[in-house]
Amino acid sequence: MPLETYRKKRRFGVTPEPRGKSPRRRTKKLAYVIQKHRATALHYDFRLEWNGVMLSWAVPKAPSLNPADKRLAMPTEDHPLEYNKFEGVIPEGEYGGGTVMIWDRGTWEPEPESADVDAAMKKGELKFRLHGEKLEGGWVLVRMHRRGAEGRTPWLLIKHRDEFVSKRDITEEAPRSVVSDRLLVEIARDEGGNMKKAADGDPPALLRKMLENPKLVKPAKKSRKKSVWHSNRGVS
Ligand code: MN
Repeated sequence: MPLETYRKKRRFGVTPEPRGKSPRRRTKKLAYVIQKHRATALHYDFRLEWNGVMLSWAVPKAPSLNPADKRLAMPTEDHPLEYNKFEGVIPEGEYGGGTVMIWDRGTWEPEPESADVDAAMKKGELKFRLHGEKLEGGWVLVRMHRRGAEGRTPWLLIKHRDEFVSKRDITEEAPRSVVSDRLLVEIARDEGGNMKKAADGDPPALLRKMLENPKLVKPAKKSRKKSVWHSNRGVS
C-alpha cells in the first residue's frame, strides 16, 4: 500500500502535515524537493517524484556541490506529492517534531532519460539530473553495501562532474526558503514553533548579523493558520 508507512507514523488530527491523496499517475515533469528539517537533529529531506509518490532520503550533512563529498542519505518512507508544499512546524512529540523549510524545489529526470528508474532503485544506483533553484546538474544516489541503524541500508548522494560543480557551501550561501524567503527561525516564529531550536539550523554568522540589524528579519506573517504554502510557481 503506497503511503501506508507515512500515514502510520503520523496523527493527522495533531500535525499540520498533509495526509496525502492516493498516488496520481504522472502527467507532467517529475517533481523534486528538498525540505530542511530541524527535528531531533538537523537534516535535509531529499525527495524525488516516482510512481505517484515522493521517494525520500534524509541527508544529515546536506547535499554538496563538490563531487569529492559523499553525503550519507538514509532512506525514509515514501511521502505524498502534497508534502512538497509543506513548510511549517510539526508539533513537538509528534513524528519528526520541529521546523520544516522548503529549501529547494524543481524537477528532475533520470539520466539517461530513458533509464529504468524502478530497476535503478532495485539495483541501488540512480543517476539523475536536477533542475532546482539551488541544485542543478547531474547527481547519483548509490546504496551502500553495509547495513545501518535500524537495519536500514544507507545510500550516498554524490554530485557528478559537470558545469555545476563547486566548492562553495550552498547551505551557507542560500540558507532561506525558496517559497517564503524565510530562515528556520522565522518559520518557527510565524507558525508557533520552537525558535531557539530552529535557529541552530540557520547559519550562525547570518543570525549574528540579524541581531545587529533587525531590519534583516522578515516581518512576521499575518496568519498563523497556513502551514501549507500555496504557491502558483513551479511544480505541484
Ligand atoms: Mn525529516
